[in-house]
Amino acid sequence: MRTARSLSAREKRDAERAEEKAAAPIHGWKPEHEAEMVTGVAASPGLAIGTVHVLAAAELDVPDTPVDLVTGGAELDAALGTTRAHMKALIDDTTRRLGAGDAAIFTAQAELLDDTDLITLACQMMVEGHGVAWSWHNAVERIAGRFAALGNPVLAARAADLRDVGRRVLAQLDPSLSNGSLADLPDTPVILVASDLSPSDTATLDTERVAGIATALGGPTSHSAILARTLGLPSVVAGGAKLLATRPGTTAIVDGDSGRIWIDPAAQDLQSARDWIAKLDRQRAAQEAERGKPAITSDGVRIEVSANVNRPDQVSFAMTQGGEGVGLMRTEFLFLEAGETPDEDAQYGIYRAMIDALDGRPLIVRALDIGGDKQVPHLALPQEENPFLGVRGARLLLRRPDLLDPQLRALYRAAKGGGPLSIMFPMITSAWELIRLRARCEEIRAELNAPAVPIGIMIEVPAAAVQARVLAEHADFFSVGTNDLTQYALAIDRQNPELASEADSLHPAVLNLIATCVEGARAHGRWVGVCGGLAGDPFGAAILAGLGVTELSMTPRDIPAVKARLRTSSLADLETLAGHALHAASADDVRALDRKGSPTEPHGAANEAQDATA
Ligand code: PEP
Ligand code: MG
Repeated sequence: MRTARSLSAREKRDAERAEEKAAAPIHGWKPEHEAEMVTGVAASPGLAIGTVHVLAAAELDVPDTPVDLVTGGAELDAALGTTRAHMKALIDDTTRRLGAGDAAIFTAQAELLDDTDLITLACQMMVEGHGVAWSWHNAVERIAGRFAALGNPVLAARAADLRDVGRRVLAQLDPSLSNGSLADLPDTPVILVASDLSPSDTATLDTERVAGIATALGGPTSHSAILARTLGLPSVVAGGAKLLATRPGTTAIVDGDSGRIWIDPAAQDLQSARDWIAKLDRQRAAQEAERGKPAITSDGVRIEVSANVNRPDQVSFAMTQGGEGVGLMRTEFLFLEAGETPDEDAQYGIYRAMIDALDGRPLIVRALDIGGDKQVPHLALPQEENPFLGVRGARLLLRRPDLLDPQLRALYRAAKGGGPLSIMFPMITSAWELIRLRARCEEIRAELNAPAVPIGIMIEVPAAAVQARVLAEHADFFSVGTNDLTQYALAIDRQNPELASEADSLHPAVLNLIATCVEGARAHGRWVGVCGGLAGDPFGAAILAGLGVTELSMTPRDIPAVKARLRTSSLADLETLAGHALHAASADDVRALDRKGSPTEPHGAANEAQDATA
């Protein structure tokens, strides 16, 4: 097939780029012996060892339901047409996020949809009396198998491409086949290798079976990366298409601190990696021993430390990590995970279960933040040129009462049952948005005769930080979303791996916006929390406390280290530190102020990425 051989120039360039990245010094664990290495971007810290499971290449049990050629041909044609449209959207999106170079993977995949050899083979199988899905799948497997058998890495990668695009068509022909391989993981811990993972795929991973994740695409601040951190799964993203050619069953080590994947390492190196994991576990255990105690600075000031948790069944783990409440419940995942819009009753059940699981501890529920990288396919929202600058978060809620009202009704019904519940609106840019949303809250509260609850907003847009004083008149509290605030302040797409190391929430511009926000809130006696990734970085948490932030909410696993760090200083020291940080010239200069970091703890790109600790 012509398309199968057409990307070698790009692959050469990729290899050169990978060599440059690979030459960068590694802090932390590294093997002593030669091993094949793939370099990507660190997305979730830690080392993981497992056998490779390539998602796109998983075996599928496709039922054979014969159809006549006319019906089968029409079904295949329609499925190819829909997949072409999806691929076009994917190419456009990847071009915007990563550049045309990376989108070429999907351009080549899309060309495979027009391959006459492939389509003819599928039709021949239908003529022989086989079902349309079966025929398509077997045609793809036969041709992909031929490529893979040639032992040429370029053609092996094309086999993976063919299987990947083949799966997309198959999902159109029979939606029940769309996610089979994730449900079917082997029992031994695997390193999950995929071209990319959607947030809902990542959210539903079985952590007993998945030890680590390595994806060809993706960025370290995507929601998939955040979820990997939440799950404690070491993860490397943007490893390139070469990853997909890794032989399933091979042993691999994913280093989520240095952004490297080591394929088939020597036995001694496997042992030293196991020793390293054990050492990290011991360090963590020492911090965890103290995690149940509050974070009180040496001069007696308490900083509230909460957890970012989306589901009631995650609450007990968050509390055992030392979480004092839930500072951010991202409700869009209810929509992503369900595959359909949960109605008011279903939402009520979940919010009530969250309140009950928290047993008197505070819960901040964020109203739906759909848009940007959190696309919910079943809502069929219009495609946007720049989704991060489009109808996202509060902007969507204001346009879609069918989404806003059931959520508010469910929340106020849950509030009637008692428990310290607060509602928070995402992506507020201007006071009028908050005023209108508050008014709708009040109407619904009155209709239901429910108690008033605190209504806060996320500070994620520089405009909101700058206008904090005005917004504080109308908001009961602020929670700073440093992931988006960094993205919008620095004009860096949070999913762009090329710029990941520059998208640092410790950039003095971001810190100054947070300082302005605290000042504005104080003018009206409001409190300020932070629920973006910076809150979960121990050094970031220290600076935030010094800036006057009084609540920090983070992925539960980050809690013990953050609490340990806050206890080592006085608030007066932290204020001095924050003062220096505000006047620093760059994020690197801010990081250089960190003299109390543990020298033995690996610090990789994941710790430097703005959201890596979410
Ligand atoms: C943020 O932007 O920092 C945040 C917490 O929201 P999300 O990551 O869900 O966009
Ligand atoms: Mg956000």
